[in-house]
Amino acid sequence: MPKMNRRKFVTNTVTSGAGLMLGSLLMGSAHREETAAGGIGDRKKNFMEEVLKYRKIDAHAHADDNQYKPEVNLDFADRLGIEKLMISNFIRPFSEGKPDDFRARNSFTIKCMKDHPGRFIGTVALNPAFRKESLEEIDRCRDAGMTGLGELYNQVKIDDPLYYPIIEKCISLNWNIMMHSPVGHSRVKLYQSEPKNISLPEDFASIAKRYPEALFQFAHIGGGIDWEYACKVLKDVPNVFIEVSGSNNAAGMIDFALKYVGEDRLVFGCDYSFYQGVGQIFSANLTDAQRKKIFFENIAKRLKKAGIHVN
Ligand SMILES: [Zn+2]
Repeated sequence: MPKMNRRKFVTNTVTSGAGLMLGSLLMGSAHREETAAGGIGDRKKNFMEEVLKYRKIDAHAHADDNQYKPEVNLDFADRLGIEKLMISNFIRPFSEGKPDDFRARNSFTIKCMKDHPGRFIGTVALNPAFRKESLEEIDRCRDAGMTGLGELYNQVKIDDPLYYPIIEKCISLNWNIMMHSPVGHSRVKLYQSEPKNISLPEDFASIAKRYPEALFQFAHIGGGIDWEYACKVLKDVPNVFIEVSGSNNAAGMIDFALKYVGEDRLVFGCDYSFYQGVGQIFSANLTDAQRKKIFFENIAKRLKKAGIHVN
């Protein structure tokens, strides 16, 4: 779930239906346009050609019938060359997350997959406080073609023993486990609106070390967390992917993450901030091979382990 997204809504509104040309203006890459040779129109066109050259999987997307409409997701994805989106209808913060709630949310995700074959990879919302129902929900959703957990929220901390049976089941399925990271966390204190069970980087590190075979995805370092701190805490925890979505897009964030966790553990996502999500990859100092890994190959490799072949 994105936070601090006032800027995102402004850009989304402006870009809706505006096509490729406007897109490059919104991608944090104005310096490229100013320095490139050729007319302004050609430069923008060439840049969008460069964007579309890369295959992409959005490893952090949402769908519901209100704020995150599936058709809007696909509209952005089509303009930016995002082939597939890993969508969830997450349990909202400060709700109890009862089984009826997460079952209905997952059923919506399944419907999106059926309505748009080949575009959405549904990921499962659940609440480990309801152990039996959550384990059964994994089976139900898997039978319907979903894979992986996410976006998990704040009902239970990621390293709480309530999660152990869920994680063990995911290990047996080779499922990716994506969980929200907090907003406003710093070395000093949590942002005041954060719930008490929010999972901190050190909680991810702790559970990932307990289950080295499990495949975790630390959500949205651009979502408002102290990303330098998060990258440092997760530096030596190889089974945690660092996913770079979010609406904050600090300059240098991806370069910093690359330096700390390396090109094999970074994954692209948008969390509904589509132009920023793609643009920040191009603003970072990455090689062609690194872009390919971050946009597509790293998450594709993980999905393949779970039986989802996207090549
Ligand atoms: Zn989130």
